Amino acid sequence: MRQRIWEALVFLLLAMLLKPVSTRPHWRPSEAHDSAASYCLSWRLAVEANDIYAWRTVPTQCLKHVENYMTGGQYERDLNFIMEHIIDYIDTIEVSDDGLDAWILDVDDTCISNLIYYRRKRFGCDPYDPDGFKRWALRGGCPAIPAVLRLFNKLVGRGFKVFLVTGRDEATLGQATLDNLQNQGFIGYQSLILRSMAYKGQSAVKYKSEIRSQLEEGEGYRIWGNVGDQWSDLQGNCTGNRAFKLPNPMYFVP
Ligand SMILES: [Mg+2]
Repeated sequence: MRQRIWEALVFLLLAMLLKPVSTRPHWRPSEAHDSAASYCLSWRLAVEANDIYAWRTVPTQCLKHVENYMTGGQYERDLNFIMEHIIDYIDTIEVSDDGLDAWILDVDDTCISNLIYYRRKRFGCDPYDPDGFKRWALRGGCPAIPAVLRLFNKLVGRGFKVFLVTGRDEATLGQATLDNLQNQGFIGYQSLILRSMAYKGQSAVKYKSEIRSQLEEGEGYRIWGNVGDQWSDLQGNCTGNRAFKLPNPMYFVP
């Protein structure tokens, strides 16, 4: 009997000693991963919502996250989803026969993609390299973004005057950009507007606002829609009846 009581006491003691160990929250390798993934989701949302301003590089811990987003299918799915909504909106517009119904499209990472270039720049973890980007753009090898090319063809087909407005420098990148758009199927737009000397050094918001003002107030166009991957494509004056932000977690243009 004494032996049984003694054994029971030892068992209880051991159970008491072991309990805190077994219920203590312990670190799992996946927790670090979960917390980085959660941080990067929050970071990307804040970037797309323009809640983080003038950020220079993608946080290094989000390299894989941005790479997976851009190359794993979700980026294309998001573009297709947005495009369905833009096309629903287009279908509500009655295009007039006065030839003044206009639409604005940005060029880089809106009509044509720089993803191949940014892959070498660790998807934006490396700082902006103006010379490197210029060399890339001069090759004229940016592929079309299929969802936006579909939108473009829809706009042209419906009779909108499509203006492609880009911050690319007219003198150095004009011809390469023209050729690139042509070889990717962007045919039938009204005008490609590049940054001329008069706008050198201006922010994209100021430059693009002035271009849109000239179109709307100077030439009488009605801007029904404006699509860009940067907030600076969509802010300022004469922003259009509807503005559509496309995803881009790789870089920020002020
Ligand atoms: Mg762009």
